[in-house]
Amino acid sequence: MTTLSVKKTSSKGIVIGKPFIVENPDLSADRTPSKDAAAEIALFEDALEKTQDELSELAAASDIFEGHLMIAMDSSLSDAVIAKINEGSNAQVALEDTVSEFAMIFEMMEDEYMKERSADVKDVGNRVMRKLKGIAGSSLSDIKEKVILVAKDLAPSDTAIIDLNYVMGFITELGGVTSHVSIIARNLELPALVGVNGIMNAVKKDDTIIMDAGKGTIIINPDSQTIAKYEKLAEEFRKHQAMLKELNHLPPVTIDGHHVSLCANVGNIDEIKQALKNNIDGIGLFRSEFLYMENSHFPTEEEQFKVYKEAAELLEGKEVTIRTLDIGGDKSLPYYTFDPEENPFLGWRAIRISLDLKDVFKAQLKALLRASAYGYIRIMFPMIISVEELEAAKAVLEECKQDLKLAGIPYDENIQIGIMIETPASVACVEQFAQMVDFFSIGTNDLTQYMLCVDRGNKKLASMYNSFHPAVLNSIQTVINAAHKYNVKCGMCGEFASDARAAKLLLGMGLDEFSMSAGEVPNVKYLIRNSNYLAEKEHTAEVLKNTKIADIMAALGEEE
Ligand code: PEP
Ligand code: MG
Repeated sequence: MTTLSVKKTSSKGIVIGKPFIVENPDLSADRTPSKDAAAEIALFEDALEKTQDELSELAAASDIFEGHLMIAMDSSLSDAVIAKINEGSNAQVALEDTVSEFAMIFEMMEDEYMKERSADVKDVGNRVMRKLKGIAGSSLSDIKEKVILVAKDLAPSDTAIIDLNYVMGFITELGGVTSHVSIIARNLELPALVGVNGIMNAVKKDDTIIMDAGKGTIIINPDSQTIAKYEKLAEEFRKHQAMLKELNHLPPVTIDGHHVSLCANVGNIDEIKQALKNNIDGIGLFRSEFLYMENSHFPTEEEQFKVYKEAAELLEGKEVTIRTLDIGGDKSLPYYTFDPEENPFLGWRAIRISLDLKDVFKAQLKALLRASAYGYIRIMFPMIISVEELEAAKAVLEECKQDLKLAGIPYDENIQIGIMIETPASVACVEQFAQMVDFFSIGTNDLTQYMLCVDRGNKKLASMYNSFHPAVLNSIQTVINAAHKYNVKCGMCGEFASDARAAKLLLGMGLDEFSMSAGEVPNVKYLIRNSNYLAEKEHTAEVLKNTKIADIMAALGEEE
């Protein structure tokens, strides 16, 4: 029995079953020079024809493949490959180079739909490359029994071939919580763990796997006792989820009538659409950096405007809190070179970058202001540490407002401005900040790492990275108190907001808004609806008197 632990849950649930291991062959081109152009052309044409036949069959089952077939039939692609072969490349190199050129052209297009076609071109290219290299086709379409899919990564076309009725869950080595497979898993309410280092080597075909995605646990070849334990847990989980779903149409209000807001954290428009199915009160955090990261250039004002406008419209008057670019730290951009840094998390990131790259900042702020005419947009600045920094950010915003005013372009004149409270400095200066903004959102992911000097991504320190540390809890209470003193709304958008062990404590501290992955909303709502605000307020004061994590957990009636 082997147990693996993972931090990133993309979709909760418990499953027990056999793995289906998706092989990922090396599809890079063999770069040996071509000796015979005619022979290479014949090889390519044969591979292309086989691909077209294969796609014609698949097109009957799914629209995705109809699009792929059109790409495979398009003579501009085959003409470009053949031209490269005639210039001296072998078939594999000609194909690889042509596909990356075509994919790049799609990526550069303004239209979101056309941009996404770049993945389809690459998919078709991979299919032809398999034939050229003599690699047997993917057998994903052959799955005919219930399995847990284990893969290095899963592309949209992979998941389109699989009969998802046979999939119990997903485990991938790559991908983040916003990757395609994560979104599919959440849509289908199937458990999934992504970013599981070494899973491809750890699992073999005939193994039995238990995945408890909520806890981030994978057990390979469990004994019968462990299987029995998890079968029971899985049944309890199913029943609990069904109960939560039934209650989720109700408002997030405590037994004694205290209201809070339950909002969603998202990274793109698709996630907003998904989140809206969970009866949310708004978007508490739109991580705008994904718009920048999944691009080939700094997105223009116009490109961003379209996205923010759509977000505002989708929310139909409910809040959409959009955080300005939070790049640097562990996040980079494919089209911008960051100087190497000794301590990237203490380096050039977030608002520091925006204030230095003023044109980039202004493009984003103008896009946000323009979109604010179409709904309830709130602007949030990340990683603020000083009054000067906030003044500077607000001055740029003022400049943008003036530009728009001069151009006669409408925007919400009362647009709300807020900051992430995620640095010890912002906690220490919180009273000043409270007098300068409309709202706070506590970013416990960073606040915990900066407050405790524990890198949030360092596996060795994972047990020290704990938001129940009294330093973090007391900071949260300080921030909420300061916010309320100055009539500022206080939310939280770090992972801690959806920690079931913390829900009543945060309620008792007076948190106004909890923002989290939308799938967590029903659970937190259930906890809130079963709480008594005044009782939790009193209890919280008692809990915060403790000076050790173990005593805090005991006072909360929770395990560490
Ligand atoms: C946070 O730091 O808590 C937060 C929500 O921001 P991110 O995780 O994107 O740094
Ligand atoms: Mg942060």
